[in-house]
Amino acid sequence: MANRNVLTEALDYAIPSTVPTHWYNIAADFPEPVAPALNPQTHEPAKPEELEPLFAKALVEQEFSTERWIEIPTPVREVYSSWRPSPLFRAHRLEKQLGTKAKIYYKYEGVSPAGSHKPNSAVAQAYFNAVEGTTKLTTETGAGQWGASLAMASAMFGLECEVFQVRSSYDEKPYRRMQMEAYGATCHPSPSDITEAGRAMLKEDPDTTGSLGMAISEAIEVAVKSDNAHYALGSVLNHVILHQSVIGLEAIEQLKEAGEEQADIVFGCAGGGSNLGGLAFPFMGLNLREGASTRIVACEPAACPSMTQGEFRYDYGDVAHLTPLLKMYTLGNEFVPPAIHAGGLRFHGMSPMVSHAKHLGLLDSIAVDENTTFSAGLEFARAEGIIPAPESTHAVAGALNYVKSGEARDGEVIVIGLSGNGVLDLPAYGREIERERNQK
Ligand SMILES: *Cc1c(COP(=O)(O)O)cnc(C)c1O
Repeated sequence: MANRNVLTEALDYAIPSTVPTHWYNIAADFPEPVAPALNPQTHEPAKPEELEPLFAKALVEQEFSTERWIEIPTPVREVYSSWRPSPLFRAHRLEKQLGTKAKIYYKYEGVSPAGSHKPNSAVAQAYFNAVEGTTKLTTETGAGQWGASLAMASAMFGLECEVFQVRSSYDEKPYRRMQMEAYGATCHPSPSDITEAGRAMLKEDPDTTGSLGMAISEAIEVAVKSDNAHYALGSVLNHVILHQSVIGLEAIEQLKEAGEEQADIVFGCAGGGSNLGGLAFPFMGLNLREGASTRIVACEPAACPSMTQGEFRYDYGDVAHLTPLLKMYTLGNEFVPPAIHAGGLRFHGMSPMVSHAKHLGLLDSIAVDENTTFSAGLEFARAEGIIPAPESTHAVAGALNYVKSGEARDGEVIVIGLSGNGVLDLPAYGREIERERNQK
C-alpha cells in the first residue's frame, strides 16, 4: 500500500455550485462506438491492464468508460474552483467593429494559473496518480503549456515532474521552461541524449527540431523504466477529452444565464482535440440526445492539417511506436510539422473521439494559414483586450471568417473557444506586427 499523501485530501471548504460536479463522457451518446485502441505488438484491442504500466488505474477506467457522467473528486473540484467556472464573455466590441448582428461569445480558458485549458486535465491526472501512490510523472510538451500545467498540478499534489519539450519550442520559448522550473519540474529538450529513443533520433538527424511524437517516445521510456513513475498525456486520449468537458458544461449553463436558447455554431482550435472536444462535446451531446442543432467547427493549422488532409486510419501516437495504435485522422507518425508558432497544434494525429465525430459527420473541420490566424488574433486583442494564444487564434480566425463572409445570420449565437492567453507568446506576435508595419 502506498504511503498516504495528505496533499490529496479534501480541504472541505465551500465550492461554488457553478463548478461542475461531473465530467461528461460523449462515449455514452455516440451513435456508434469509437474504434478501440490496439496493442502496438499484437494489434488486438488493448486491454485496460495493458495501459496500467503507463497510467493510473482510475484514468485507465475513464479511458474505457461509456458512462455518461463521471464524478469529479472533491480535491479536484477544489483546485478547479480557483478559476472555474471560467468566464463566458460576450464580444460586444468585436461585434461592433465587425458591424455584425450575430452574437459572438467566447469561453476564456486563459484565466487558469498556467494560462490555458490544460490544467483541467493536468489537475485530474496528477490527483488520480497521487492517490494511487505514483511519485513522479513524465510527459512531453510542445509549446510548453501542457508541461507548465502538469508541473503546476504535480507540485500541488506533491509529485515529481519530468518534461521533454520539443527542441524548437525549448529554444524559442525559454519562458515556458522557466515556468515549469518555477513549479519545480525538470525540463529537457527533445530529442535528448538521456533516453534510448532520443539517442536513436539524434543519430538519425542531429539537427532535428523535434516533434511531439518524438518527445512522447522519450517520456514513455522514462516512465516505463522508473519505479513509481507514470506517464501523462495532455490531449488526444479519451480521459483527457473527458476532463476538458467542464468547459462545454459551463458554457451551456452560462449561455442559458445570458438568455440564449442554444449555441448555433461553436469554433474551437484543434491540435490533439482536447479543448475542442471539451467545449464542443457537451453541445454535441445535446444534439444527439435532445435534438439540438449546434454546429461544431474544428479549426486547425494549414501547416499541420490532420483532419482536413489526413487519412482516417490506425496510427501510432509517437515516432518510436510505443503508444497503442489509435484510429484517428493522421498525417502519419513520421510527419514533422513545420515550426509554426502555434506549437500546441503541431501533432500529426487527432483525438480518436474527435476523429470519430468528424467521421460520423457530427463536426466540420477547416484549415487556417498562420498569417490569417495572427491577424485575427490582433483584431481580437484590439477589440477585447485579451491577446489569444497562437493556438486559440485559429478558432478566432474561423469565427471572423464566418462573420466576414456574410454567412452569419442576424441574432445567430456564435461561441469561440479561447483556449488560452498569448502573453508568453509575444515574440510570435512580434513577427506579425512587423509584417503589418511593412504593408503600410
Ligand atoms: C495545447 C493547446 C492547444 C491544443 O491542444 P488541444 O488538445 O487540441 O486543445 C490549444 N490551445 C492552447 C492554448 C493550448 O495550450
